[in-house]
Amino acid sequence: MVIGIIGAGASGMAAALTAAENSGADIILMERQARVGRKLQATGNGRCNLSNIQAKDMGYHGENPDFVTPAIQAFDPDNTLAWFRSMGLYTVTESNGKVYPYSDQANSVVDILRLNLNRPNISVKLGFDAEKIQKTSDGFIVTGNGETILCDRLIVACGGLAGSKLGGTLSGYKLLAQLGHKSTKLRPSLVQIKTGWKDIVSLKGVRANCRIQIQRDGQVHRESAGEIQFTEQGISGPVVFEISRDVCYGPGVWVAKIDFLPDFPEDFLRQELERRRSTNLPMEELLTGILHNRLGRVLSKTAGIKGKSSANELSNQEMKELCAAVKNLEITLTEPLGMDSAQVTAGGVLTSQFDENTMESRLVPGLYACGEVLDIDGDCGGYNLQWAWSSGRLAGLSAGKEIV
Ligand SMILES: Cc1cc2nc3c(=O)[nH]c(=O)nc-3n(C[C@H](O)[C@H](O)[C@H](O)COP(=O)(O)OP(=O)(O)OC[C@H]3O[C@@H](n4cnc5c(N)ncnc54)[C@H](O)[C@@H]3O)c2cc1C
Repeated sequence: MVIGIIGAGASGMAAALTAAENSGADIILMERQARVGRKLQATGNGRCNLSNIQAKDMGYHGENPDFVTPAIQAFDPDNTLAWFRSMGLYTVTESNGKVYPYSDQANSVVDILRLNLNRPNISVKLGFDAEKIQKTSDGFIVTGNGETILCDRLIVACGGLAGSKLGGTLSGYKLLAQLGHKSTKLRPSLVQIKTGWKDIVSLKGVRANCRIQIQRDGQVHRESAGEIQFTEQGISGPVVFEISRDVCYGPGVWVAKIDFLPDFPEDFLRQELERRRSTNLPMEELLTGILHNRLGRVLSKTAGIKGKSSANELSNQEMKELCAAVKNLEITLTEPLGMDSAQVTAGGVLTSQFDENTMESRLVPGLYACGEVLDIDGDCGGYNLQWAWSSGRLAGLSAGKEIV
């Protein structure tokens, strides 16, 4: 008996290893790229945030976020880490719950999976781009590169469209559509957001802790706190990723109100700036020691302060504008960056067409899907890889069980 798996990313490798460990089936793992785990290698800025011990059944989104519960409960983070440990991967859990390989290298995760795939009942077909899947009376035919693969059960683990330079593709949605599965609208998530703040260009590379409130047409949409990073194109960082899933999605004017000094009240800032104004401090040093130097200078510019060489030349109105820029900067959010830059795809194949207890299609018996191709996306911080491991393991276990 043969289980075919399309996609040797996080969920496909988890499915292959689990099916191989738990069944007597022969596994054919098909991967269009020249190596396995290409995207995985780039995760977590090369460190691979492979799980989050808080990823139970919260932190997931989609039309039916509860779809994740059986998979995550069956293979929860503790379980997943024990599984990795049994394969030889040592991990470290940070105080915020994020889990990384002990080596701090994403390569280690890929290497451990790749080494464990080296078993007699798993055959890895690299450079195989599955283009067509067909259901026959007793199994499936997968066609790609002019070659045909026959299997009794088929798992689609092609991932999503996000991170297209690393292999993100529409392929999984299209393959599943060939057998009648529908997808929701796809959009980028965990992605940078472009802004209408023109002075931002000078801030590339600056990081700042802040509190951020997102408003849509003047109504508070979401609030968050944490590190913001300025990039060539806009704003990034965990706090931005957290809100990127729904910002600029749908009509309305989206505005971010940013407090760059969240640990100090406005009164404190005003008094401190008054004290500094009364000295002969050069203007460009007015916020020195409080904010990143470049951020301080850019906020002064945004507050409309020009042509002053010394802080004691500032008018009361200019002091007020500067405090407002630091404590309550309002910038318009124009759009998220595209799928190329996104870490995960929001939306995907309808989960209502799959059984959450097995990951098997409700339309085509013997067909399974796992990972990002399904309409599930997780929060920033290891949630998406945890979903890939849990859903991949459940799909591999279920596909294997039917065969034993
Ligand atoms: C830059 C970046 C950083 C990230 N960092 C993190 C992080 O630190 N923590 C976290 O939890 N998540 C992170 N993610 C998200 C996470 O990587 C994905 O959610 C996860 O890899 C999805 O697993 P998957 O198996 O569904 O898909 P993938 O890992 O994308 O694997 C799908 C595989 O299928 C192959 N494939 C596709 N179509 C075909 C076809 N037709 N035939 C054959 N093969 C095919 C692809 O080449 C790919 O290898 C990050 C994503 C990106 C882009």
